[in-house]
Amino acid sequence: AKDAGGGEHCRFEPMLHASAEERRKLEASLRKALGLDEFVLHYQPVVDSRTENVVSFEALVRWNSSDHGFVSPGKFIPLAEDTRLIVPIGKWVLREACMEARNWPENIKVNVNVSPEQLLEPDFHQDVVDCLAMSGLRPERLEIEVTESIFLRDASIARNALEQAMALGCSIALDDFGTGYSSLGYLRKLSFSTIKVDRTFVQGAAQGSNESLAIINAVVAMAKSMNMSTTAEGVEDSEEAEMVRDLGCDKIQGYYFGRPMSREDALDLFKNDPSL
Ligand code: C2E
Ligand code: CA
Ligand code: CA
Ligand code: CA
Repeated sequence: AKDAGGGEHCRFEPMLHASAEERRKLEASLRKALGLDEFVLHYQPVVDSRTENVVSFEALVRWNSSDHGFVSPGKFIPLAEDTRLIVPIGKWVLREACMEARNWPENIKVNVNVSPEQLLEPDFHQDVVDCLAMSGLRPERLEIEVTESIFLRDASIARNALEQAMALGCSIALDDFGTGYSSLGYLRKLSFSTIKVDRTFVQGAAQGSNESLAIINAVVAMAKSMNMSTTAEGVEDSEEAEMVRDLGCDKIQGYYFGRPMSREDALDLFKNDPSL
């Protein structure tokens, strides 16, 4: 058994090594990415579930790396968080999103994802103030999206940072609700404006899962009782849209109403839609 173990070790080490090497390369590229202007923001519409009018756009970062080509956020955001590179990247995202949103009609908000590492930085509040001042965007048009992970450590610092943003007039959305560390107790910790019901529940319910259905129902009921609105994420067809609307979700986001799009395409939506 010992010999076999040794053999296994030799056989697997190059693979482990390769993935560490890959990660090191990706990190080196990520470190240069801001300076090389390799990030761009895409914008995905969020619609009112009843009128189906666009009420907001969520800013989603895209990285076109000169070394690696297109790298998905699912891959580089966790790396950026581990290396704290998310702090300067997130700062860029916030500024870029605020600057873009001022080209939109006054009633359209912008949603910006903020990682715990970024939120916990002492500079965060000043960054928000600066971005709003620089863009001239009314604070009411900026919604900050955080996940429950902000409550895992330094919860009071995170809460303070979000309360400061709320004092400016910004709103806060609780993203990916129901995944990960979920505890309904988190909802009492802050007056979130919006709870975003994770795509996994929308898909589950659409496929007939009573458990997913019950969770969406419970979240919607709780949100209503706490004066929060709900957004269903990942709605991909008309049946899912009808289902989440019937379940009482106030807003809908997903491929059915629009994929994340370039800033130019987002602007074109306003030109072509007289209701906006
Ligand atoms: P998220 O905040 O939950 O964003 C929604 C994700 O779901 C986006 O993936 C979006 O493209 C995708 N999506 C939207 N509608 C549908 C649908 O109908 N079906 C399916 N299958 N997917 C849909 P994306 O853009 O790949 O981003 C992944 C995650 O990366 C985001 O999840 C967010 O956690 C993170 N992320 C993206 N941009 C930023 C950013 O600027 N800052 C931070 N901190 N995180 C970001
Ligand atoms: Ca989000
Ligand atoms: Ca989400
Ligand atoms: Ca997510």
